[in-house]
Amino acid sequence: MKDDSQQGVAQRAAQVLTPNYRPAPVVFERGDGVSLFDADDRRYLDFAAGIAVCALGHGHGGLSDALADQARNLLHVSNLYINRPSIELAEKLVSLCFADRVYFGNSGAEANEAALKLARRYMRLVRGEDRYTFICTEKSFHGRTWAAISATGQPKYHKGFGPLVPGFVHVPYDDLAAMEAAIDETTCAIFVEPIQGEGGVRVPSAGYLAGLRALCDQHGLLLIFDEVQTGVGRTGKWFAHQHEGVAPDIMTLAKGLGGGVPIGAMVCTETVAHGFAPGAHASTFGGNPLACRAGLTVLETIDNQDLLDHVEEMGAYMAEGLGQLVASLDGVLDVRGRGLMRGIGVDPDRVDRAAVIGRARDAGLLLTMAGPDALRLVPPLIVKRPDIDEALLLLAKAIEG
Ligand code: PLP
Repeated sequence: MKDDSQQGVAQRAAQVLTPNYRPAPVVFERGDGVSLFDADDRRYLDFAAGIAVCALGHGHGGLSDALADQARNLLHVSNLYINRPSIELAEKLVSLCFADRVYFGNSGAEANEAALKLARRYMRLVRGEDRYTFICTEKSFHGRTWAAISATGQPKYHKGFGPLVPGFVHVPYDDLAAMEAAIDETTCAIFVEPIQGEGGVRVPSAGYLAGLRALCDQHGLLLIFDEVQTGVGRTGKWFAHQHEGVAPDIMTLAKGLGGGVPIGAMVCTETVAHGFAPGAHASTFGGNPLACRAGLTVLETIDNQDLLDHVEEMGAYMAEGLGQLVASLDGVLDVRGRGLMRGIGVDPDRVDRAAVIGRARDAGLLLTMAGPDALRLVPPLIVKRPDIDEALLLLAKAIEG
Protein backbone atom coordinates (compact mmCIF):
# COMPACT_ATOMS: atom_id res chain seq x y z
CA MET A 1 0.00 0.00 0.00
CA LYS A 2 1.28 3.46 -0.90
CA ASP A 3 1.54 5.89 2.00
CA ASP A 4 -0.49 8.89 0.86
CA SER A 5 -0.05 10.92 4.02
CA GLN A 6 1.98 14.12 3.68
CA GLN A 7 4.97 12.50 5.36
CA GLY A 8 4.56 9.35 3.25
CA VAL A 9 4.55 11.29 -0.04
CA ALA A 10 7.63 13.21 1.13
CA GLN A 11 9.39 9.91 1.79
CA ARG A 12 8.34 8.53 -1.59
CA ALA A 13 9.66 11.72 -3.23
CA ALA A 14 13.04 11.20 -1.60
CA GLN A 15 13.22 7.70 -3.09
CA VAL A 16 11.97 8.28 -6.61
CA LEU A 17 13.25 11.74 -7.63
CA THR A 18 16.86 12.40 -8.58
CA PRO A 19 18.62 13.92 -5.57
CA ASN A 20 19.29 17.39 -7.04
CA TYR A 21 16.57 19.08 -4.93
CA ARG A 22 16.08 19.25 -1.19
CA PRO A 23 12.36 20.01 -0.89
CA ALA A 24 10.66 20.93 2.36
CA PRO A 25 8.48 18.03 3.51
CA VAL A 26 5.27 19.81 2.52
CA VAL A 27 2.86 18.50 -0.10
CA PHE A 28 0.64 21.20 -1.53
CA GLU A 29 -2.78 20.20 -2.79
CA ARG A 30 -4.43 23.46 -3.80
CA GLY A 31 -4.20 27.21 -3.69
CA ASP A 32 -6.45 30.22 -3.57
CA GLY A 33 -5.09 33.70 -4.31
CA VAL A 34 -2.00 34.25 -2.14
CA SER A 35 -2.73 31.16 -0.03
CA LEU A 36 -1.60 27.57 -0.47
CA PHE A 37 -3.04 24.59 1.38
CA ASP A 38 -1.09 21.46 2.21
CA ALA A 39 -2.32 17.86 2.41
CA ASP A 40 -3.44 18.44 6.00
CA ASP A 41 -5.32 21.57 4.87
CA ARG A 42 -2.91 23.92 6.64
CA ARG A 43 -2.80 27.36 5.07
CA TYR A 44 0.42 29.08 4.02
CA LEU A 45 0.86 32.63 2.75
CA ASP A 46 2.80 32.23 -0.47
CA PHE A 47 5.48 34.90 -0.72
CA ALA A 48 7.63 32.54 -2.81
CA ALA A 49 5.03 32.23 -5.60
CA GLY A 50 6.78 29.20 -7.07
CA ILE A 51 9.99 31.31 -7.25
CA ALA A 52 8.46 34.48 -8.71
CA VAL A 53 6.18 32.58 -11.06
CA CYS A 54 2.52 32.62 -9.96
CA ALA A 55 1.79 36.19 -11.07
CA LEU A 56 -1.99 35.87 -10.66
CA GLY A 57 -1.76 33.77 -7.52
CA HIS A 58 -3.31 30.33 -7.20
CA GLY A 59 -6.64 29.06 -8.45
CA HIS A 60 -7.22 32.18 -10.55
CA GLY A 61 -10.66 31.91 -12.15
CA GLY A 62 -9.86 33.63 -15.45
CA LEU A 63 -6.65 31.66 -15.96
CA SER A 64 -8.17 28.29 -15.09
CA ASP A 65 -11.19 28.93 -17.35
CA ALA A 66 -8.93 29.91 -20.25
CA LEU A 67 -6.78 26.81 -19.74
CA ALA A 68 -9.77 24.49 -19.50
CA ASP A 69 -11.20 25.99 -22.69
CA GLN A 70 -7.86 25.67 -24.48
CA ALA A 71 -7.37 22.09 -23.27
CA ARG A 72 -10.78 21.11 -24.62
CA ASN A 73 -9.99 22.59 -28.04
CA LEU A 74 -6.30 22.28 -28.83
CA LEU A 75 -3.28 21.33 -26.73
CA HIS A 76 -0.45 20.97 -29.20
CA VAL A 77 0.35 21.06 -32.90
CA SER A 78 4.13 21.84 -33.10
CA ASN A 79 5.80 24.58 -35.11
CA LEU A 80 5.18 22.73 -38.35
CA TYR A 81 1.86 24.61 -38.26
CA ILE A 82 0.48 27.83 -36.82
CA ASN A 83 -1.69 28.12 -33.72
CA ARG A 84 -3.71 31.19 -32.82
CA PRO A 85 -2.76 31.65 -29.12
CA SER A 86 0.96 31.81 -29.98
CA ILE A 87 0.40 34.57 -32.53
CA GLU A 88 -1.87 36.50 -30.21
CA LEU A 89 0.64 36.25 -27.35
CA ALA A 90 3.52 37.29 -29.62
CA GLU A 91 1.51 40.29 -30.86
CA LYS A 92 0.69 41.28 -27.29
CA LEU A 93 4.35 40.99 -26.20
CA VAL A 94 5.65 43.16 -29.05
CA SER A 95 2.96 45.75 -28.28
CA LEU A 96 4.36 46.07 -24.74
CA CYS A 97 8.05 46.63 -25.45
CA PHE A 98 10.85 47.44 -27.90
CA ALA A 99 10.63 44.05 -29.62
CA ASP A 100 9.35 43.20 -33.09
CA ARG A 101 9.67 39.41 -33.03
CA VAL A 102 9.24 36.56 -30.59
CA TYR A 103 10.61 33.04 -30.17
CA PHE A 104 8.85 30.76 -27.69
CA GLY A 105 10.47 28.09 -25.54
CA ASN A 106 9.52 26.43 -22.29
CA SER A 107 11.71 27.89 -19.55
CA GLY A 108 14.03 30.72 -18.65
CA ALA A 109 17.16 28.73 -19.46
CA GLU A 110 15.78 27.88 -22.89
CA ALA A 111 14.88 31.50 -23.55
CA ASN A 112 18.47 32.40 -22.69
CA GLU A 113 19.87 29.64 -24.92
CA ALA A 114 17.83 31.09 -27.77
CA ALA A 115 19.10 34.61 -27.02
CA LEU A 116 22.73 33.50 -26.92
CA LYS A 117 22.44 31.43 -30.07
CA LEU A 118 20.67 34.24 -31.92
CA ALA A 119 23.26 36.80 -30.83
CA ARG A 120 26.20 34.64 -31.92
CA ARG A 121 24.63 33.74 -35.22
CA TYR A 122 23.63 37.34 -35.96
CA MET A 123 27.07 38.72 -35.11
CA ARG A 124 28.77 36.04 -37.22
CA LEU A 125 26.61 37.10 -40.14
CA VAL A 126 27.15 40.84 -39.80
CA ARG A 127 30.60 41.16 -38.18
CA GLY A 128 32.44 37.96 -38.99
CA GLU A 129 33.56 34.70 -37.42
CA ASP A 130 35.48 36.12 -34.46
CA ARG A 131 32.63 37.85 -32.63
CA TYR A 132 31.53 35.16 -30.19
CA THR A 133 32.24 36.32 -26.62
CA PHE A 134 29.53 37.28 -24.16
CA ILE A 135 30.36 39.63 -21.32
CA CYS A 136 28.27 38.61 -18.32
CA THR A 137 28.34 39.65 -14.69
CA GLU A 138 29.52 38.15 -11.45
CA LYS A 139 26.75 36.88 -9.14
CA SER A 140 24.37 36.61 -12.11
CA PHE A 141 22.01 33.71 -12.66
CA HIS A 142 20.77 32.63 -16.08
CA GLY A 143 19.61 29.02 -15.67
CA ARG A 144 20.98 25.47 -15.66
CA THR A 145 21.52 24.41 -19.25
CA TRP A 146 25.15 24.36 -20.30
CA ALA A 147 25.35 27.76 -21.97
CA ALA A 148 23.17 29.25 -19.24
CA ILE A 149 25.48 28.02 -16.46
CA SER A 150 28.45 29.22 -18.51
CA ALA A 151 26.85 32.68 -18.57
CA THR A 152 26.00 32.46 -14.87
CA GLY A 153 28.59 34.26 -12.75
CA GLN A 154 28.48 32.01 -9.71
CA PRO A 155 31.14 29.28 -9.51
CA LYS A 156 28.94 27.06 -7.30
CA TYR A 157 26.72 26.35 -10.31
CA HIS A 158 29.74 25.30 -12.41
CA LYS A 159 31.13 22.76 -9.97
CA GLY A 160 31.39 19.30 -11.51
CA PHE A 161 30.27 20.40 -14.97
CA GLY A 162 33.45 21.61 -16.64
CA PRO A 163 34.54 22.20 -19.27
CA LEU A 164 31.95 24.91 -19.70
CA VAL A 165 30.86 26.42 -23.01
CA PRO A 166 33.69 28.70 -24.18
CA GLY A 167 33.19 32.39 -24.90
CA PHE A 168 31.82 33.73 -21.60
CA VAL A 169 33.64 36.29 -19.46
CA HIS A 170 32.47 37.85 -16.22
CA VAL A 171 32.90 41.30 -14.74
CA PRO A 172 31.51 42.82 -11.51
CA TYR A 173 27.84 43.87 -11.73
CA ASP A 174 27.00 47.57 -11.69
CA ASP A 175 30.50 48.49 -12.83
CA LEU A 176 30.53 50.22 -16.22
CA ALA A 177 34.29 50.74 -16.22
CA ALA A 178 34.88 46.99 -15.76
CA MET A 179 32.41 46.27 -18.52
CA GLU A 180 34.13 48.67 -20.90
CA ALA A 181 37.56 47.26 -20.07
CA ALA A 182 36.35 43.73 -20.91
CA ILE A 183 35.24 44.63 -24.44
CA ASP A 184 37.62 43.41 -27.14
CA GLU A 185 37.60 42.36 -30.79
CA THR A 186 35.89 39.05 -29.92
CA THR A 187 32.95 40.58 -28.04
CA CYS A 188 29.52 39.70 -29.37
CA ALA A 189 27.12 40.92 -26.69
CA ILE A 190 26.63 42.13 -23.15
CA PHE A 191 24.26 39.87 -21.21
CA VAL A 192 22.84 41.04 -17.87
CA GLU A 193 19.83 40.97 -15.57
CA PRO A 194 18.38 44.49 -15.06
CA ILE A 195 18.09 43.54 -11.38
CA GLN A 196 20.04 40.52 -10.18
CA GLY A 197 17.57 38.07 -8.67
CA GLU A 198 19.17 34.83 -7.52
CA GLY A 199 22.39 36.78 -6.88
CA GLY A 200 20.74 38.58 -3.97
CA VAL A 201 18.04 40.97 -5.31
CA ARG A 202 20.55 43.59 -6.39
CA VAL A 203 19.35 46.76 -8.09
CA PRO A 204 22.13 48.50 -10.06
CA SER A 205 22.80 52.24 -9.80
CA ALA A 206 20.65 54.58 -11.86
CA GLY A 207 22.30 54.95 -15.25
CA TYR A 208 23.90 51.49 -15.34
CA LEU A 209 21.54 50.04 -17.94
CA ALA A 210 21.75 53.22 -20.03
CA GLY A 211 25.54 53.02 -19.75
CA LEU A 212 25.48 49.45 -21.05
CA ARG A 213 23.32 50.58 -23.97
CA ALA A 214 25.80 53.35 -24.76
CA LEU A 215 28.74 50.91 -24.65
CA CYS A 216 26.95 48.53 -27.01
CA ASP A 217 26.12 51.34 -29.43
CA GLN A 218 29.65 52.67 -29.34
CA HIS A 219 31.23 49.25 -29.99
CA GLY A 220 28.57 47.78 -32.27
CA LEU A 221 27.57 45.06 -29.77
CA LEU A 222 24.25 43.51 -28.89
CA LEU A 223 22.63 44.17 -25.53
CA ILE A 224 20.69 41.27 -24.00
CA PHE A 225 18.57 41.67 -20.88
CA ASP A 226 17.59 38.55 -18.95
CA GLU A 227 14.17 39.53 -17.59
CA VAL A 228 13.20 35.98 -16.71
CA GLN A 229 12.62 37.05 -13.11
CA THR A 230 12.11 40.82 -13.43
CA GLY A 231 9.73 40.73 -16.42
CA VAL A 232 5.96 40.63 -16.76
CA GLY A 233 5.06 43.23 -14.16
CA ARG A 234 7.15 41.91 -11.27
CA THR A 235 8.89 45.27 -10.66
CA GLY A 236 5.92 47.54 -11.43
CA LYS A 237 6.62 48.06 -15.14
CA TRP A 238 5.99 45.45 -17.80
CA PHE A 239 9.75 44.94 -17.97
CA ALA A 240 12.34 46.23 -15.49
CA HIS A 241 14.49 48.00 -18.10
CA GLN A 242 11.52 50.28 -18.79
CA HIS A 243 12.20 52.02 -15.45
CA GLU A 244 15.35 53.39 -17.10
CA GLY A 245 13.89 54.13 -20.50
CA VAL A 246 16.50 52.06 -22.35
CA ALA A 247 15.89 49.15 -24.66
CA PRO A 248 18.01 46.07 -25.31
CA ASP A 249 18.27 44.28 -28.66
CA ILE A 250 17.14 40.99 -27.13
CA MET A 251 15.20 40.20 -23.95
CA THR A 252 14.32 36.89 -22.32
CA LEU A 253 11.21 36.06 -20.30
CA ALA A 254 9.74 33.07 -18.47
CA LYS A 255 8.59 32.68 -14.82
CA GLY A 256 5.59 35.03 -14.46
CA LEU A 257 4.65 34.90 -18.13
CA GLY A 258 2.60 31.70 -17.88
CA GLY A 259 1.28 32.38 -14.37
CA GLY A 260 2.44 28.84 -13.44
CA VAL A 261 2.25 27.14 -16.83
CA PRO A 262 5.77 26.53 -18.22
CA ILE A 263 6.67 28.97 -20.98
CA GLY A 264 9.72 31.00 -21.98
CA ALA A 265 10.11 33.69 -24.59
CA MET A 266 12.99 35.42 -26.32
CA VAL A 267 11.99 38.69 -27.94
CA CYS A 268 14.16 40.82 -30.22
CA THR A 269 14.32 43.61 -32.77
CA GLU A 270 13.47 43.07 -36.42
CA THR A 271 17.12 43.49 -37.43
CA VAL A 272 18.55 40.99 -34.98
CA ALA A 273 15.77 38.45 -35.65
CA HIS A 274 17.31 37.86 -39.05
CA GLY A 275 20.20 36.13 -37.34
CA PHE A 276 17.85 33.16 -37.40
CA ALA A 277 16.80 31.44 -40.60
CA PRO A 278 14.43 28.47 -40.93
CA GLY A 279 15.99 25.49 -39.16
CA ALA A 280 18.51 27.55 -37.15
CA HIS A 281 16.78 26.93 -33.83
CA ALA A 282 13.64 25.13 -32.64
CA SER A 283 11.66 23.60 -29.82
CA THR A 284 8.96 20.94 -30.13
CA PHE A 285 6.85 22.45 -27.36
CA GLY A 286 7.79 26.10 -28.01
CA GLY A 287 4.69 28.17 -28.73
CA ASN A 288 2.44 25.42 -27.40
CA PRO A 289 -1.19 26.66 -27.52
CA LEU A 290 -1.90 25.83 -23.87
CA ALA A 291 1.16 27.69 -22.59
CA CYS A 292 0.56 30.64 -24.93
CA ARG A 293 -3.09 30.89 -23.90
CA ALA A 294 -1.85 31.06 -20.31
CA GLY A 295 0.61 33.82 -21.25
CA LEU A 296 -2.03 35.78 -23.09
CA THR A 297 -4.43 35.51 -20.15
CA VAL A 298 -1.74 36.66 -17.70
CA LEU A 299 -0.85 39.71 -19.82
CA GLU A 300 -4.49 40.63 -20.45
CA THR A 301 -5.29 40.30 -16.75
CA ILE A 302 -2.35 42.50 -15.74
CA ASP A 303 -3.57 45.04 -18.29
CA ASN A 304 -7.29 44.92 -17.51
CA GLN A 305 -6.85 45.00 -13.76
CA ASP A 306 -4.17 47.73 -13.72
CA LEU A 307 -1.87 45.38 -11.88
CA LEU A 308 1.26 47.38 -12.74
CA ASP A 309 0.02 50.30 -10.60
CA HIS A 310 -1.02 47.79 -7.97
CA VAL A 311 2.49 46.28 -7.95
CA GLU A 312 4.07 49.73 -7.51
CA GLU A 313 1.73 50.47 -4.61
CA MET A 314 2.06 47.09 -2.89
CA GLY A 315 5.81 47.05 -3.54
CA ALA A 316 6.24 50.42 -1.83
CA TYR A 317 4.05 49.26 1.06
CA MET A 318 6.05 46.07 1.48
CA ALA A 319 9.36 47.95 1.27
CA GLU A 320 8.20 50.31 4.01
CA GLY A 321 7.30 47.37 6.25
CA LEU A 322 10.62 45.67 5.51
CA GLY A 323 12.36 48.94 6.37
CA GLN A 324 10.84 48.69 9.84
CA LEU A 325 12.37 45.22 10.23
CA VAL A 326 15.76 46.70 9.34
CA ALA A 327 15.27 49.35 12.01
CA SER A 328 14.07 46.96 14.70
CA LEU A 329 15.74 43.57 14.21
CA ASP A 330 19.29 42.53 14.92
CA GLY A 331 21.24 41.39 11.86
CA VAL A 332 18.76 42.74 9.28
CA LEU A 333 20.75 45.23 7.24
CA ASP A 334 18.91 46.61 4.23
CA VAL A 335 15.88 46.44 1.95
CA ARG A 336 16.54 45.64 -1.69
CA GLY A 337 14.57 45.36 -4.90
CA ARG A 338 11.81 47.04 -6.79
CA GLY A 339 8.04 46.54 -6.98
CA LEU A 340 7.14 43.09 -5.70
CA MET A 341 10.64 41.71 -6.13
CA ARG A 342 12.03 42.46 -2.70
CA GLY A 343 14.70 41.19 -0.43
CA ILE A 344 16.22 42.02 2.90
CA GLY A 345 19.96 41.79 3.29
CA VAL A 346 21.01 40.06 6.49
CA ASP A 347 24.28 39.41 8.25
CA PRO A 348 24.71 35.64 7.71
CA ASP A 349 26.73 35.38 10.94
CA ARG A 350 23.81 36.71 12.95
CA VAL A 351 20.81 35.48 10.93
CA ASP A 352 20.61 31.82 9.92
CA ARG A 353 18.51 32.17 6.77
CA ALA A 354 17.67 28.47 6.42
CA ALA A 355 16.41 28.45 10.01
CA VAL A 356 14.36 31.62 9.40
CA ILE A 357 12.78 30.11 6.28
CA GLY A 358 11.98 26.91 8.20
CA ARG A 359 10.43 28.77 11.15
CA ALA A 360 8.45 31.00 8.77
CA ARG A 361 7.12 27.94 6.94
CA ASP A 362 6.15 26.26 10.20
CA ALA A 363 4.24 29.43 11.08
CA GLY A 364 2.55 29.55 7.65
CA LEU A 365 4.70 31.84 5.49
CA LEU A 366 6.68 30.76 2.41
CA LEU A 367 9.72 32.74 1.34
CA THR A 368 13.03 32.02 -0.36
CA MET A 369 16.70 32.87 -0.16
CA ALA A 370 18.67 34.83 -2.71
CA GLY A 371 22.43 35.11 -3.00
CA PRO A 372 24.72 34.76 -0.01
CA ASP A 373 22.95 37.20 2.28
CA ALA A 374 19.32 37.91 1.36
CA LEU A 375 15.84 36.67 2.14
CA ARG A 376 13.55 37.20 -0.83
CA LEU A 377 9.84 38.01 -0.99
CA VAL A 378 8.20 37.69 -4.41
CA PRO A 379 4.46 37.30 -3.75
CA PRO A 380 1.85 37.01 -6.50
CA LEU A 381 1.18 40.37 -8.16
CA ILE A 382 -2.37 40.30 -6.77
CA VAL A 383 -1.15 40.44 -3.15
CA LYS A 384 -3.05 42.86 -0.89
CA ARG A 385 -2.15 44.96 2.16
CA PRO A 386 -3.54 42.51 4.76
CA ASP A 387 -1.45 39.71 3.19
CA ILE A 388 1.65 41.88 3.44
CA ASP A 389 0.86 42.84 7.04
CA GLU A 390 0.45 39.18 7.98
CA ALA A 391 3.60 38.14 6.12
CA LEU A 392 5.75 40.82 7.74
CA LEU A 393 4.52 39.85 11.19
CA LEU A 394 5.36 36.19 10.55
CA LEU A 395 8.72 37.13 9.04
CA ALA A 396 9.67 39.28 12.03
CA LYS A 397 8.82 36.45 14.41
CA ALA A 398 10.78 33.96 12.31
CA ILE A 399 13.84 36.21 12.34
CA GLU A 400 13.57 36.78 16.09
CA GLY A 401 13.63 32.96 16.47
N1 PLP B 1 17.30 33.84 -15.61
C1 PLP B 1 16.99 34.38 -14.42
C2 PLP B 1 17.25 35.83 -14.17
C3 PLP B 1 16.41 33.59 -13.42
O1 PLP B 1 16.12 34.12 -12.23
C4 PLP B 1 16.19 32.22 -13.69
C5 PLP B 1 15.60 31.33 -12.66
O2 PLP B 1 15.62 31.61 -11.50
C6 PLP B 1 16.53 31.71 -14.96
C7 PLP B 1 17.08 32.55 -15.89
C8 PLP B 1 16.31 30.26 -15.29
O3 PLP B 1 14.96 30.02 -15.50
P1 PLP B 1 14.43 28.52 -15.55
O4 PLP B 1 14.62 27.94 -14.19
O5 PLP B 1 12.98 28.66 -15.95
O6 PLP B 1 15.21 27.80 -16.60
